[in-house]
Amino acid sequence: SAKAGGRRTFRFFEPAMDAIARARRELEFDLRTAIADGGFEIHYQPIVDLRSDEITGCEALLRWRHPTRGMISPAEFIPVAEDTGLINEIGGWTLAAACAEAVQWEQNITLAVNISPVQFRQPTLALLVASVLGSTGLPAQRLELEVTEAVLIHDDDAALTTLNLLRALGVRISLDDFGTGYSSLSYLQRFPFDKIKIDRAFVENIDTTEGSTAIIEAVVNIAASRSMTTTAEGVETVRQRDILRGLGCTQMQGWLFSPAVPAAKFRMLLAERRATRAA
Ligand code: C2E
Ligand code: MG
Ligand code: MG
Ligand code: MG
Repeated sequence: SAKAGGRRTFRFFEPAMDAIARARRELEFDLRTAIADGGFEIHYQPIVDLRSDEITGCEALLRWRHPTRGMISPAEFIPVAEDTGLINEIGGWTLAAACAEAVQWEQNITLAVNISPVQFRQPTLALLVASVLGSTGLPAQRLELEVTEAVLIHDDDAALTTLNLLRALGVRISLDDFGTGYSSLSYLQRFPFDKIKIDRAFVENIDTTEGSTAIIEAVVNIAASRSMTTTAEGVETVRQRDILRGLGCTQMQGWLFSPAVPAAKFRMLLAERRATRAA
């Protein structure tokens, strides 16, 4: 009968659900341990100006070296950190550590740090940013905060207040992963962004489908008309780079130039570029 079938389904799913819940609890426990033991590190991915080919900045990307499972992707652990609220502590550490690293670089390039919607909704975010800038000595103009559309959908007024407070500090705000969420173009009108990061999903298809090119062109033009810059994410091929350059996109980020690398390697990259220019 349907009833028996339902029961069978229930019995079949219960252990699976238990296993998922257990895995999440373990991940949460391990995250707490990692916070206490310094189990996180930050990698830096260069962002390159499409006209000059110079490194003009980088994005800080969090890495978690798990004691038994090896490197765990932020795509896996950030959602758990958000659900448990641990993201506030992890994000605060990331911001402070990345700013402390960036003041030591020999070039005054920009540093982009991702801010989770959970962090963004903390009324104290602007205070935290001000305090980190103060304690590390990083000039506000060198810091970019990357937020996604998810921060805008809950409470427009609160989001706008926070964005304005952050910009009053002199920090720049980027709209990350543009094109993947609700992607209302009206967001660009209502909220004061300095930069749009065009998601890899569009860049990926740029040399195969007409549609992608048209979308990127539209975004680049809207951005330019509102004095915003554009960064293309996930640029992997020379052809993608050339098309983006032709469309007037400002910057690129992707494996074509470099993946995210540990801090020491990133410093070497900066030094190498300086040497190349001097030669
Ligand atoms: P995101 O902010 O959009 O970061 C860009 C992602 O694209 C990074 O993945 C980067 O390694 C990857 N990427 C860069 N170039 C290429 C390319 O050419 N090809 C491909 N296939 N991928 C490329 P990652 O490091 O795994 O981070 C994933 C996401 O996790 C980030 O997406 C961001 O949303 C989140 N995340 C990372 N670090 C932090 C953090 O410190 N705080 C918060 N809240 N989120 C973070
Ligand atoms: Mg980002
Ligand atoms: Mg992104
Ligand atoms: Mg992305």
